[in-house]
Amino acid sequence: MNSLFTEEQLLLQAAAREFAEKELQPRAARIDQEAVFPEEAMKMLAELEMTGIPYPQEYGGGGADMISYALILEELAKQCEATALTLSSHTMAAAPILTFGAKEQITRFVPALNSLRKIGAFALTEAGAGSDAGGIVTSAVLDGDDYVINGTKIFITNGDKCDIVLLFARTDPASKGNKGLSAFIVEKKVSDFEVGKHEDKMGIRGSHTTELIFRNCRVPKENLLGKPGEGLKIALTTLVGGRIAIAAQAVGVAQACLDESINYAKERHQFGRPLASNQAIQWMIADMAKDVAAARLLTHHAAKLFDLGEPCGTQASIAKLFASEAAMNHAIKAVQIHGGYGYVRGTKVERLFRDVKVMEIFEGTSEVHRMIISGSLIK
Ligand SMILES: Cc1cc2nc3c(=O)[nH]c(=O)nc-3n(C[C@H](O)[C@H](O)[C@H](O)COP(=O)(O)OP(=O)(O)OC[C@H]3O[C@@H](n4cnc5c(N)ncnc54)[C@H](O)[C@@H]3O)c2cc1C
Repeated sequence: MNSLFTEEQLLLQAAAREFAEKELQPRAARIDQEAVFPEEAMKMLAELEMTGIPYPQEYGGGGADMISYALILEELAKQCEATALTLSSHTMAAAPILTFGAKEQITRFVPALNSLRKIGAFALTEAGAGSDAGGIVTSAVLDGDDYVINGTKIFITNGDKCDIVLLFARTDPASKGNKGLSAFIVEKKVSDFEVGKHEDKMGIRGSHTTELIFRNCRVPKENLLGKPGEGLKIALTTLVGGRIAIAAQAVGVAQACLDESINYAKERHQFGRPLASNQAIQWMIADMAKDVAAARLLTHHAAKLFDLGEPCGTQASIAKLFASEAAMNHAIKAVQIHGGYGYVRGTKVERLFRDVKVMEIFEGTSEVHRMIISGSLIK
């Protein structure tokens, strides 16, 4: 397996693994139980130069590729998915600025995000616009030198902590559906928006999820990203990388479920022998090992296409769909193998079980990914 990777990719993987085992593993239970935002861990990741890892070094990034980023996220997610998601949601904010931004926007915002001087968020979802971004009603109206934004975004990861929000709003009120949407770089210190409801979630509790409320919020017109009307294109392009990142995290959770299951099945004795000596348990472990290997390869395939600059939207959807469903199935099996101990607070698999469900929901639900995949095949 290792021969698939370059020396540099393996070094980054090893550094992430060491960090995650030493720093995240001991913090993960508290982050979950107290819903603590992983601020300390994020600062340490910034010191390791892992907060802008897939972006060019000239803008303060790590200069690494998508495969390296996937390897790092897998290692972080194995120990603490809340931290991995906080990092990937933050990292995602810089991607559209680099791809669609003017030079001035890139130099102004990307180094600050990469160094974690500013925390990023990506705000697409609204009460009436989840799977269907065409339902966006948040409006952006040009008034002198500013756009005036009105509307509420929901379920925004890093919402209460972010300094920079990639915001999607409707600039053409006459247009319907996916047309007439535009993207904005909204700075908290310049544009006055409020943090609304904090979601009390089943899992990934250390990852903060909030509403963002925009009431006559003025955003300088130079913070429009790309051209008016390019919002959907910008969102969908960004989500391709985002989905590879979620697939990588799902691989990490799936691997953690497998590791915990093997350890427990070897330690726990019933009927005078280890659980692992029963074929029923061995088959569950074999099935988990098969699916995590496949999920990892699909994720790295999508990441490789991404690095080559090839179209990879469908491959990203395949990887995200397969890996998130595999991770959910692994969590079910891992709890089953742990019996009653898997169902009580304090067991790692109980946390993994709660953390993983959302992976089938955000960055496109499983149904949306099936629509994307089949749509690319049936034309
Ligand atoms: C913890 C968390 C963090 C999040 N972070 C962010 C974030 O940072 N930024 C952001 O913008 N959003 C974020 N989201 C929002 C997330 O992306 C949406 O929840 C997701 O896109 C689904 O939208 P929805 O919840 O409105 O579900 P809906 O779109 O209402 O879907 C409900 C169900 O119906 C199914 N469905 C919908 N349409 C169809 C169809 N045509 N055919 C078949 N089935 C269909 C869906 O698959 C789903 O099963 C987050 C959500 C959560 C829970």
